[in-house]
Amino acid sequence: MYGAGDVRVENVPDPVLREPTDAVVRVLLSCICGSDLWPYGSLPPSDHGRRMGHEFLGVVEEVGSDVSGLSAGDVVIAPFVWSDGTCDFCQQGLQTSCRHGGQWGHDLDGGQGEAVRVPQAQGTLVKVPVGEDSALLPSLLTLSDVFCTGHHAAVTAGVTPRTSVTVIGDGAVGLSAVLAAKRLGAEQIVLMGRHQARTDLGREFGATDVVAERGDEGIERVRELTGGDGTHTVLECVGTEQAIGTSLRVVRDGGVVSRVGASQYGSVPMDFGTLMRNITLTGGVAPARAYIEDLLPDVLEGRVDPGRVFDRTVGFDDVPGGYRAMADREALKVLIQP
Ligand SMILES: [Zn+2]
Repeated sequence: MYGAGDVRVENVPDPVLREPTDAVVRVLLSCICGSDLWPYGSLPPSDHGRRMGHEFLGVVEEVGSDVSGLSAGDVVIAPFVWSDGTCDFCQQGLQTSCRHGGQWGHDLDGGQGEAVRVPQAQGTLVKVPVGEDSALLPSLLTLSDVFCTGHHAAVTAGVTPRTSVTVIGDGAVGLSAVLAAKRLGAEQIVLMGRHQARTDLGREFGATDVVAERGDEGIERVRELTGGDGTHTVLECVGTEQAIGTSLRVVRDGGVVSRVGASQYGSVPMDFGTLMRNITLTGGVAPARAYIEDLLPDVLEGRVDPGRVFDRTVGFDDVPGGYRAMADREALKVLIQP
């Protein structure tokens, strides 16, 4: 990406092993993230550009001498950050804070490419027992980010069968959060979103109510649906100031707001009124690597089908069009098939 709206497909040197902890992975599937749309809308123009893509799944081509448990031919999921799997943060399940980890793209290979050099391969990659042509690949790809992010929202909010839930946002993360809340047993799931094709999928994922109104009207609707109180948990999956403001107003006293939308705001209006209501704010970036093994059996056995968030597939030549379609909200989430 060379600047806002400027995505180009270019040839770069093939990845090679540089460290004994590396692997080289050939990409089978990648995708465009809602968070890629923030730089797509605002990245200042530059001459050198920036490698894109942090969600991918592929086949191991080669591993370094220090990598065990992985070998050429394995199908692997790459979480959206790489991590060593051994430091104190990784041990704590917070691989996004790994002391020797980092992000794809920028100076490293991005996932939106034909192949990637994966640092800290043993800690990062998760081998999955499927073939290169498995119909499950799109759903498995969601474990690299979007489904794990929705799950993180639900887990940090403390969603259980006894908690009611509001999900703010009908993008791929919001819909994944609905699916995750349903999977954790939530019985009432209110989805706030106004794009009907998306909220229809949200209903299939488990939303019991859809609120299309925004602002005061939307808040009023959620309160009506919950006996005037709001829900025990709110999963904020947008990242705007309006979304976090709405979250604090549709949460029940004593409740929890979890934010996983890529925050575009610098302060949260947690004033004296919210203090008096004992609201907890949690959430953050999802340590996807910590969740993959937990969520994998449900995907492999077909109990959840999070890959339904993909509604368009493009080849490399059409990646710029894929960005445009997502930015124009013509596509929910775009799959890239090299
Ligand atoms: Zn670590």
